[in-house]
Amino acid sequence: MFFYDDFEDLDDIDNFDKLFEKMNNVEEQCPVCVQCGYCCKHTPCYYGKWNEEKNQCEYLTEDNKCSKYNEIVEYENSINLKVKMFGSGCCLNYLNPERIKKIREFNEKEA
Ligand code: SF4
Ligand code: SF4
Repeated sequence: MFFYDDFEDLDDIDNFDKLFEKMNNVEEQCPVCVQCGYCCKHTPCYYGKWNEEKNQCEYLTEDNKCSKYNEIVEYENSINLKVKMFGSGCCLNYLNPERIKKIREFNEKEA
């Protein structure tokens, strides 16, 4: 299986003390992005643009991909950015229902 390590204790989601402790102290590296689209439906990133009608970033595709992906990667490479936007993990991984759903579906398929 992949993209689950942060979810090994998904069943402990009710244990908020533990969850917050993990948020504050343990997790130093963001877990992997599973392309759930949740973040782009809440607030646009630095490169994004909010679409009021769709209530999401203008550049998010139907299948939760970023239509500016190539452009952003090219730009960040051109300025030698160390921590790149894509590949740096999930920025909204806790209490994110879409991410949990996608991981659950994936794990069910793999089981
Ligand atoms: S530009 Fe791409 S990554 Fe940024 S918010 Fe929009 S869809 Fe998401
Ligand atoms: S919320 Fe996290 S997993 Fe979902 S698209 Fe954004 S970065 Fe990726």
